[in-house]
Amino acid sequence: MYKRKIHKKRLIGLIAFSALFLALAGVIVYTTSSEAHTNNHAIKVDTKYPQVEVATTVNTKSGYTIEFPLLHIKEIDQVIKSYLTNRISNFTKNNQGKKLVITYDIAHFSKQTLSINFTEQLNKKSNQTIMKNTINIDLLNKEIIQLENLFASGNSNEYLEILSRIASNELKNNEEISLSDKEIDKVTAPMKENFKEFIVFNNSIVFILKPNNNVDIPLAISKSILEQMLRDPYKSGDQNADVIKDIEPSDIITELPKKEIQVPLDKKVIALTFDDGPKAGTTNIILDALKKYNANATFFVLGSMAEKNPELLKEIAERGHEIGSHSWDHPQLTKMGNKDIQDQIERTKALIQKITGYAPTVFRPPYGSINQAVYHCLGDTPVAMWDIDTEDWRYRNKNYIVQSVMDGVGDGKTVLMHDIYPTSAEAAVEVIRQLKTQGYEIVSVSELKEIQKQRQQAQAK
Ligand code: ZN
Repeated sequence: MYKRKIHKKRLIGLIAFSALFLALAGVIVYTTSSEAHTNNHAIKVDTKYPQVEVATTVNTKSGYTIEFPLLHIKEIDQVIKSYLTNRISNFTKNNQGKKLVITYDIAHFSKQTLSINFTEQLNKKSNQTIMKNTINIDLLNKEIIQLENLFASGNSNEYLEILSRIASNELKNNEEISLSDKEIDKVTAPMKENFKEFIVFNNSIVFILKPNNNVDIPLAISKSILEQMLRDPYKSGDQNADVIKDIEPSDIITELPKKEIQVPLDKKVIALTFDDGPKAGTTNIILDALKKYNANATFFVLGSMAEKNPELLKEIAERGHEIGSHSWDHPQLTKMGNKDIQDQIERTKALIQKITGYAPTVFRPPYGSINQAVYHCLGDTPVAMWDIDTEDWRYRNKNYIVQSVMDGVGDGKTVLMHDIYPTSAEAAVEVIRQLKTQGYEIVSVSELKEIQKQRQQAQAK
């Protein structure tokens, strides 16, 4: 009943696992019919991965041809078997009398993960693919990796927001994608359904977006920008390195997109800046208010504070706010030697980059003290000062701080506050609310600069 083409070296292994294989074949046949069939089974060694055997089950009566990898690890073969059983059962329900061919290829194979692409066709000659599915198996935990298993559970839907932002930005800026903005918004919305198809590589994760049944859009995202959210087993490293060199995805996205500025040029704008943080308990209050009123801000952080609150710094960046550097620990830079200045600037920059994936885009010197030596160390990084100083560090009174901002506001101004005092955080919430009521668009300092540039260009025309 069983015909097998067996590689001689594999024979011993096969005998040991023949019981498993019989069980597997039985399950596949099970979904077809209760009658007796003629089944042909073949096993050969995968040409690329010697540790994998390619099993083929042909059910001549129903015409199924199912090709699948056998790893001879009981739980994993069981996972694959369950997957296939489901697929066949699903096909039988919807396609009575038709013939299903399933083939596969291995997209990635490491100690930690195995990614298998299954292709379902109506019959092999017609080459008509009806479905492509990828399953990712955690070889050490011996289970299928679902989307939510990839990411740490801390901030439950944060990863979806990030994936959505990256995908939307990529699709809208790719000329080869012929989808409307509305279609892009739908396929990139922060929902598990949109990102459930993926392949885990060592340095990237490829998400396969499916705007409709006929189109697959692969989106390769570097793990470097997802690193902080990824669960440890799936971070880049030895465990996830290719066992045999895989075909790496090209065009990997390595930067988080900035939030788009869409401010009408005639709208009043104001930049809010928060210095000396981030600090748990106070920065969060400001972040929530910014979110509530759909506002952006720049946080001029200290390296020493960011080191104590890395998660918070990451959150600021992930919410699309701008991160500026404010030195490592707030010295008066103009009183320091070149080497110390450089140390203050470079150390902070490296830490911000490590935590957020971005170098700080702007710098504000402590006390506003700056000289040529500091400019020299900063290189291309622009310096941003302020127009409205609330002196909130001195006046720890919410109403006083709110009043001093509102007395000074005007189109194009920059407000300086500190996100390390509870009174300042409370005042910021009220300031944001009042500015919105007065019709201001609240932006980061770089956005303000960009808007002012655009206005000048518009005027020059
Ligand atoms: Zn400061």
